[in-house]
Amino acid sequence: MDKILLSFDLEEFDIPEEYGQTLAAEEKLERSREGLIPLLGLLKKLNITATFYTTAFFAQANPGLIKEICLDHEIASHGFYHSSFRNEDILSSKQALERITGKVLSGFRMARLMPVDETLIAKAGYIYHSSLNPTWIPGRYNNLSKPTLPFVSSGIIQLPASVASALRIPLFWISFKVFPEGVYQRLALRTLRKKHYLNIYFHPWEFADISSYKIPGYTKKIYGIELLRRLETLLVLLKEKGRFVQSSEYCFDFLQTLQHPDAPRF
Ligand SMILES: [Zn+2]
Repeated sequence: MDKILLSFDLEEFDIPEEYGQTLAAEEKLERSREGLIPLLGLLKKLNITATFYTTAFFAQANPGLIKEICLDHEIASHGFYHSSFRNEDILSSKQALERITGKVLSGFRMARLMPVDETLIAKAGYIYHSSLNPTWIPGRYNNLSKPTLPFVSSGIIQLPASVASALRIPLFWISFKVFPEGVYQRLALRTLRKKHYLNIYFHPWEFADISSYKIPGYTKKIYGIELLRRLETLLVLLKEKGRFVQSSEYCFDFLQTLQHPDAPRF
């Protein structure tokens, strides 16, 4: 059956700081919590499991919430802090999240999908890495030469975000609110049908009231309850066509079928 990897980057809401505003740490955490609660309710209602790439900073400030999330979903690492990064964070965020969840973490995603030394991710003991958006985002990255389906490199499984058609139209969180709803739905469903793999990601803070922040219009074109309604419609459509799996479960199945000389050993 076609597999859907739904994920959320659970981080402190720091986008306004990219645009010159300063937010107190508590406010950044609060916006994420504000969107997270209704989002978790929706996932429960639809009985859908997801992967939450979480910063250790958010998790340490909200250990009870993280423990609750990992009853139904997978927790992976989104680094230690969202606004700053040191190589040591790859391992220290894993350790911090494992202390809170009591589970071994398998996955890593870099904040803002920035480039990272992948050998360090494998060395820290992760099984998979999901920081590749195999498209071109002007001013951010150009990954048009990279694979669009899962592959193994540097000793880890790479789980690229999904793109649609030969034009590699990104199906990430911005397209979801910028494209007309029906267009996004058709692209997502077609990609799932053709590739048997759909990896899409959003952020809990998108489901909070972010209207007053001075951030680009496309980041808040739709937000809060309206966005949650749009997500519900999409998830209901996808659920008819595929199976939602946590990223580590996908990787486990991927390894079963993989006969690659570079495949990691466990
Ligand atoms: Zn992020």
